[in-house]
Amino acid sequence: MQNEALFSICPLLLPQDKNGLTYDGFIEINEQTFRVSIVQPNVGSLKDASISCSWRLWNILHHYQDVIKQRLHQSENLASFLVEFKNLVEKLVKCKQDDTGQLSLPLDTYSLLISELEHIGWHKLAYTNESFNIIKLKMRDARDREHIVTVHVSAEYPDILPKCSADVPEPFHFKGSKITEGRLLECIYNEFCEIISSHELFWNVMDEIDQNCWILEPEHPTRADASRRVALGNNTSLLVRINVQHPKMMPECHLMGADSIVMKLRENMNKNLHQWDPEIPVLENLEKLLETKFPSRQTTKKEDFSLECGICYAYRLDNAIPESACDDPRCGQPFHTSCLYEWLRALPSSRQSFNIIFGECPYCNKVILQKVQFDR
Ligand SMILES: [Zn+2]
Ligand SMILES: [Zn+2]
Repeated sequence: MQNEALFSICPLLLPQDKNGLTYDGFIEINEQTFRVSIVQPNVGSLKDASISCSWRLWNILHHYQDVIKQRLHQSENLASFLVEFKNLVEKLVKCKQDDTGQLSLPLDTYSLLISELEHIGWHKLAYTNESFNIIKLKMRDARDREHIVTVHVSAEYPDILPKCSADVPEPFHFKGSKITEGRLLECIYNEFCEIISSHELFWNVMDEIDQNCWILEPEHPTRADASRRVALGNNTSLLVRINVQHPKMMPECHLMGADSIVMKLRENMNKNLHQWDPEIPVLENLEKLLETKFPSRQTTKKEDFSLECGICYAYRLDNAIPESACDDPRCGQPFHTSCLYEWLRALPSSRQSFNIIFGECPYCNKVILQKVQFDR
């Protein structure tokens, strides 16, 4: 029975005697084979067993030799040890390239972390560095989106709760309200999963916006971002901030672009506010309120909307996108607020009244105005 289990885990590791006290052969990990031998002095007990391996494997494992010895001695049988051993080597081979750190955690902490990971399941481990003080665990939600929680393990683990971080709209702090001894990592993971499932509706709403509209900002939205600036066409855009707790409620909206166009859209919005229906998709609601359609990703290109500034000819300038625009409906040229301000300030014909500066549009020569930018 024991032999069959061993054979299925490591088919190239063979017993050298009829009591199965010595095993010798190869272990296959990530399509590489390593020479390994295991000696058990007593039948049925791994308490004093020893393991030796080729220098190539030792090179990967030498930081961990004490941990491995400890795990070997504590394992119920050879098969369960080998499963754990293979998982550990697999992760170490993968993570070897990006960290050359020294062991910084006490031996017992390593041993505890490895047994905890064994219990949670190694497939949930997304990453760990060689010194095992950064552990990333992954989970998939109902829509198959991957989420990752990063656990920063200190030498005081598990006596002091580790710092955790995750890509979620509200900062993730592990509260540790229910901790099972020896299962801290699992408790963190479970609490993280609860947070993830409580935000599923929020991410569904964000995904719907991202998949159907052109997003001008943020450039690379994360799962933590609740705001999107959505292209509306005609150099206008709508900045929406989705309510994280109640994502189907009407979001905070801010229209941006040339006044002549924005004014009409704002009017529509105010007039139709009462029509918001949390039962239908957020985008559909917004289109109903604005009385316009968002440009479709199927029939338009993003470049049609991410128009560069008419002064510096760039789209992004110090991370800002062109937020000002000429109000003349036939022109509508967008500008970075700072570019337009500097341009108007340099023109001798510009006038300033209170905090508004008036001048000519560099494109159509019609009057253009810009709020004064205070020098920072
Ligand atoms: Zn510019
Ligand atoms: Zn103009």
